[in-house]
Amino acid sequence: MGPKGLLITIDGPAGAGKSTLGRRLAQELGYLFLDTGAMYRAVGLWAKEAQIDPNDKETIEQLCERLDLRLKQGAQGVEVFLNGRNVTPFLRTPEIDRWSSVVAQIPGVRSWLLRLQRSYGLEGGVVAEGRDMGSVVFPEADVKFFLTASPEERAKRRYNDLIAQGANVTYQQVLEELIKRDKQDQNRKIAPLVVPKGAIIIDTSSLDLREVLDLMLQKIHFYAKQRGISPLPASRDTLNF
Ligand code: C5P
Repeated sequence: MGPKGLLITIDGPAGAGKSTLGRRLAQELGYLFLDTGAMYRAVGLWAKEAQIDPNDKETIEQLCERLDLRLKQGAQGVEVFLNGRNVTPFLRTPEIDRWSSVVAQIPGVRSWLLRLQRSYGLEGGVVAEGRDMGSVVFPEADVKFFLTASPEERAKRRYNDLIAQGANVTYQQVLEELIKRDKQDQNRKIAPLVVPKGAIIIDTSSLDLREVLDLMLQKIHFYAKQRGISPLPASRDTLNF
């Protein structure tokens, strides 16, 4: 446990509920929510807008280190700033789904983001969400979760989100993209999606948000009680990055 509280990681495939649950868990504990998917998405958005060939790994590796990428806790949750511009509204589109998965396979992008993520996480009081949090970025985390659900259930959730945003997609397209992204995330050479050692696996297919959240809080409180510590931070000011 760091000076600001526990370090909690949540890993799992796309659509397993990591972002929603991570955000809520962080709120309930008064912790920071480290949305690392949003960081990969921001790099994907930058590469797309700069019209860089996605196969040109060297250029992406060289240029990405010069980006000023910051997360800030806004009223609506974590906001992502890229070179001073709030890019949060542009990150969750099917096109950026694909770009983020492509840049996430580039070693230089991963090592740069790993350093950035660690700088946010190591003092504790953090819920870190992603694909390699408990396995690579924070193997020493206090409590590790691995959330999963069937591909059909995950595609249904993602489809509903996209339709609510006004996107023009079919359920079948979303399911196919999701299966493709799962494969890319599981089979890439560096930091593939795996169940981290010691992680608590939760299948969210037939549980609602509150049920999963309660289960996670129960595990966190159990961990803290065993060690005679409180999982709550001494000061809630830690909500500012
Ligand atoms: O979680 P989210 O869908 O926002 O992540 C977008 C993409 O970023 C994922 O498909 C994955 O390829 C990549 N990612 C990653 N490692 C993380 C978080 C996300 O490779 N820790």
